[in-house]
Amino acid sequence: MISADRFSLEAMLTDLEALVSCESPSKDVERLTVHARLVSGLMVRLLGSAPELIDSPVGPHIHWKGGGEPKVLILGHHDTVHPVGTLSRLPFAVVDGKASGPGVFDMKAGIVQAIHAVAALEDKSHVEILFTADEEVGSHASRALLEERAVACGAALVLEPSADGGALKIGRKGTGTLTLSIEGRASHAGLEPEKGINSLVELAALIPQIVAIANPELGTTVTPTLASSGTADNVVPALTTCAVDVRVAIPAEKPRVEAAFAALKVQHPEARLTISGQIGRPPMHESAATELFAIAQKFAASAGIENLDGISVGGGSDGNFTAAVGVQTLDGLGAVGGGAHGDTEHVVVATMPSRAALLANLCQDLGSMAKRPPLVSVPASR
Ligand SMILES: [Zn+2]
Repeated sequence: MISADRFSLEAMLTDLEALVSCESPSKDVERLTVHARLVSGLMVRLLGSAPELIDSPVGPHIHWKGGGEPKVLILGHHDTVHPVGTLSRLPFAVVDGKASGPGVFDMKAGIVQAIHAVAALEDKSHVEILFTADEEVGSHASRALLEERAVACGAALVLEPSADGGALKIGRKGTGTLTLSIEGRASHAGLEPEKGINSLVELAALIPQIVAIANPELGTTVTPTLASSGTADNVVPALTTCAVDVRVAIPAEKPRVEAAFAALKVQHPEARLTISGQIGRPPMHESAATELFAIAQKFAASAGIENLDGISVGGGSDGNFTAAVGVQTLDGLGAVGGGAHGDTEHVVVATMPSRAALLANLCQDLGSMAKRPPLVSVPASR
């Protein structure tokens, strides 16, 4: 058993300050490269060996291997949503027990906790760590790699921030935005409205059909969120667009929802409807997390965590991808704090050692057992 007092909060905060003070916005290859080298240096110092930096068009992914038979993949990302310059406005600081700075919660504290956790393991040989460079922009350049490594390891522990008060994330919806674009024809609204094709009226007729695609019983939500139309108040609008936020909880709902959108039709024979976008990340069903969450709960008390909850959330992460390829997945194992993606982003620093201890115990336990078999119940049969 590895307890929280094995970890030095002071050392963790020193490492956290170094990472937060090196901005790593998504798609900024140069800065992500500098940041990857910094993380690499931390791994060399604490884990005794260097990771491979895997180049991609959007910056390097960081891949560290323990060297033995892999049984657990610790999965995170080292890009952040914060643009360059956020740091000069919001430099790293620790005030009243809260660390702040761009990306501190999502997920640089998670990275620090993970490296310290693996450093505390007597046997690290079964552990792999992958920090990708593009999670915040959809993981297009890392999806194949992280799916492959998750399958090779049999279990994925995802370092996304915890939910309120430290809860783990045991289910995630599949998410996407579908955008409708309706082309009609402009005409003078006063002189000859009948010569126009009103794209806004066409959208209005479609909205009830769009809303009806939802299925709350199955956890599917379909929410029109952003619309724009027209050019002036006396012109029949030629173009109307509408974005629809779509979330599904079970895999089979993704094709059903996409087919329902594809079947939408405008009324006017000369109006044109095009639909772009898709449900990008498949849902992470709770059954993917059941066994790993039970193990986490077994170790919570000895790690110094009183109540370890597990909840399902709407947002997606790379855990959706690992669960969808049949790999047992537990998410939300990163930092405890709040304000992700905003100016109030922060980490409750006193929780860092216990979160590292929880992750270390999970890794140790998974290493002592046979490699996890693939999930049979998750994929699209439901
Ligand atoms: Zn994240």
